[in-house]
This record gives sequence, C-alpha cells and structure tokens, in this order.
Amino acid sequence: MSLIVQKYGGTSVGNAERIKNVAARVARWHRDGHQIVVVVSAMSGVTDGLLKLAREVAPEPAEREIDMLLSTGEQTTIALTAMALHAAGVPAVSLTGAQAGIVTDGLHTKAKIANITPKKVRQHLDAGAVVIVAGFQGQNEEGSITTLGRGGSDLTAIALAAALKADLCQIYTDVDGVYTADPRLVPNARKIDVLSYDEMLEMAALGSKVMQARSVEFAKKFNVPFEVRSSFSEIGSNVPGTLIKEEMKSMEQVVVRGVSLEKNQAKVTVSGVPDQPGVAAKLFTALAEGHVNIDVIVQNVSNQGATDITFTLHKDDLPKARKVAEPLVAALGAKNFTAQEGISKLSIVGIGMRSHSGVAASLFRALSGAGVNVQMISTSEIKISVVIDEAGGPAAAQAVHDAFELGAVK
Ligand code: ASP
Ligand code: MG
Repeated sequence: MSLIVQKYGGTSVGNAERIKNVAARVARWHRDGHQIVVVVSAMSGVTDGLLKLAREVAPEPAEREIDMLLSTGEQTTIALTAMALHAAGVPAVSLTGAQAGIVTDGLHTKAKIANITPKKVRQHLDAGAVVIVAGFQGQNEEGSITTLGRGGSDLTAIALAAALKADLCQIYTDVDGVYTADPRLVPNARKIDVLSYDEMLEMAALGSKVMQARSVEFAKKFNVPFEVRSSFSEIGSNVPGTLIKEEMKSMEQVVVRGVSLEKNQAKVTVSGVPDQPGVAAKLFTALAEGHVNIDVIVQNVSNQGATDITFTLHKDDLPKARKVAEPLVAALGAKNFTAQEGISKLSIVGIGMRSHSGVAASLFRALSGAGVNVQMISTSEIKISVVIDEAGGPAAAQAVHDAFELGAVK
C-alpha cells in the first residue's frame, strides 16, 4: 500500500463529465489498495472569471478579499469531486486548505507556505477515505484565507506530498508529460522520461506551462520527486509520464534536454546612451517602478563614450515600457528609443551543458543552417537563449531539435 498525492488541474476538472473521469481514476487507485490524497484546481476558466468579476465591482479590489473570492473556485471542485466519488461508491471527504492544516504567511494573493499539519488528512486516510484538498489556498496566522499565486495548486500538491511523506506525487494534466519541444511546433518531439529539478525549473520558467515554477523550486528544496502525467489516458492503462527528481550523474550524458520557443516577445533599444555609471540603473529602476517585466538585457561595447542598451519583454508590456522609457531618453542624454515586436526567444536547456563543450557552436550552426539570424544571446549554466525573428521561430525550433537529435530514439 502506498500513499499517493494526485493533483488534477483546471482542464482535468473542467466540467461534470471530467470530474467524473477524475473520480473514476481515483477510484481505481483506491480499489488497488492505495491511500489517496487528491488536490484539485478550480474548474478551467473559473479563477479568471472571478478575477474579472472583482474588477467589475472595484477598480482595485483588496487583496484579502481577492483571496476570499478565488478560494471559492477550488472549494467548488473539492465538493463536486467528493460527490462524484461517493456516487462511484468510494468513501471521500473534501477539505479546504485551512482544514488540511496548510498555514501560510500573510502575503495575500502570493502567500508562502509556512508549515503544514495534516492531522485531519491523516485521520481520514486512516479511516479509509480518499481525501480531497482544495489547491492554491491556505490560511494565515490570523485565520484569513490566503492563496499561493497563480498555478498554486501544484504547490499544494508538492507541499502536501512532502508533509505526508507520500510515496508518490502525481501531477495530472492535459499532456502526458514534459516534451523535448512543443509537439504542435515540432511534430517529432518526444516525451522525456526523466528530468532533474533544475531542468524542469528552467522549462517551467520558460513558459512551458506544465507547472508553476515555485512548486518546482519547493520540490527541489525538499526533494519531492514527482511525475507529470495525463488525466486523459485510458483509465487503468497506467502510462508513465515524466519523472522529475534529484539530479544524478547519468543525467548529464544528455547534453540538451529540450528546446522551447517563447513567442510574443518585443525588443527595445535605447541607443546612444552615455557610457557612465548610473545610466542603466536609472533606466531599469524606472522600468521596474512601471511594473515592466524585463527578460534578456544586452549592452554593447561602448564606442566614443556612447553605447546601446537592448532588452526584451513580453509584447503586452511594450506600451508600459514605452510610456516609462521614451521620455527618459532625453533625460539620460541618449539618442533614440526604438521598439520592435514580432520576435521570439528560443532556448535550449540541459544540465549536460555543464560538462560538454561546443553546445553553443552546435546551436548557432543549426540556426545558420535554417537561415535564422541571431539578434541577441543570453546564457546560464544550463541554458542558452537566442532572440530571433518570430516568423522563423518554428523552423528554427525544428532545426535545433534535429541538430541535438532530440526526436531520435537512442
Ligand atoms: N485556480 C488557480 C489558478 O487558476 C490555481 C491553479 O489552478 O493551480 O491559478
Ligand atoms: Mg495549472
């Protein structure tokens, strides 16, 4: 008998039929003799709908009340899932985050978990029931409901698995694992069997949308291995997904684990910036105060006392960036402000990069072979990103995927 924490995301519980599907899956594991804790998200679209309602009644709704409101989304799902399990003849109890013993700090809408005392969860498990816990929520020391940031149900599942010392943590979603690239973009992309926390973290941060990045950080910190798998596969087929776990030496043999392409990026260049201390500080402080999220930053070598600073951002942030930075050009003694949309960021990720050389060279060769011009480059220990024209993005992703033989079965 194992203790398994299973998390089902918004799409997996998106309507009554899907909730019944989740119940049937859970029933199967329960019948096989396992103790099951189910963490669910709000039904897809519900959280966004509630946020929209909040903005309709007030321009700046209080964050405490936002948490009170949003937590109802998950509360709906836990009750419905429990009912569906009862209908399937399985004993089940739903618990809110607070009832499950999840205590957070006081930072509304992005609270951190402070501790978990899952006494009630244990009691119900020991009595033979499936326990269904509302994801994304907890309560602070004053007893107010808090939420854990968008996508926070992942964090609830990982943290509960740690607190309960679960044998297994499964993240059920609408894809059957983490892929070497987005299969809609790269048709021969392959499901990855095993990934390290750091690789998953980079991929989550790159917007592969499979999991909340914070939850992966938590899993790494407390060493909670977890599996990403599909809630839409045939029940009982038990198709393995992608296992994310502690790094092992053998993982470094694969140089590049995956390729990602982030579309809808924009590029801003402030040119003719005086090459003096404090100029970049002024520019980026202003952007930060304007809540503009900056991604890649590049500054040129200076030429006759002046330089160019280029940065990328999501194209939706461009109007804000323009509002903040354009008027600053004169104040900084710079020459020009130029903005360009229609660019993408392509990245390759893999812990094998630490111990292999020539990875960047292979990447650039693949891009040049595909006729793709590199506009900016940025690297970390286990990632190389290039900024390219959006139009060439899909072909570039395929070429890079081919160059690192990610589609081929070894
Ligand atoms: N319902 C929340 C959201 O949409 C939390 C989650 O789905 O994990 O962000
Ligand atoms: Mg999610």
